[in-house]
Amino acid sequence: MALVPCTECDRQISELAISCPGCGAPTGVKEQISLENKPSKAYVLTPDGKKRFIKATTFDIIISIFLPFWGVVVGIIALCKGETKRGFTMLAIVACVTLLIIFYASNQPH
Ligand SMILES: [Zn+2]
Repeated sequence: MALVPCTECDRQISELAISCPGCGAPTGVKEQISLENKPSKAYVLTPDGKKRFIKATTFDIIISIFLPFWGVVVGIIALCKGETKRGFTMLAIVACVTLLIIFYASNQPH
């Protein structure tokens, strides 16, 4: 990460900074970064230009565990009732959601 002079006050600021911490002048860097390097990890840029990673909340964890579990239960109940089409549809949705969760979880920072 390099330092660049502020266009307004010539203070040395991070090239990742959204605005100058000295005078508050916007740098316009934010748009360039988001276009050039597409982030693979979920984060927000803080005003001083640092990346703050978004951590999964308790709610996210409960939903990611509860939803597939609920889907499996509903799917199995549907299969037991002889509703094969509905049961396999539910299980297919659960499989997709589970794969998505695994995909996102593997992209989480450690
Ligand atoms: Zn400045």
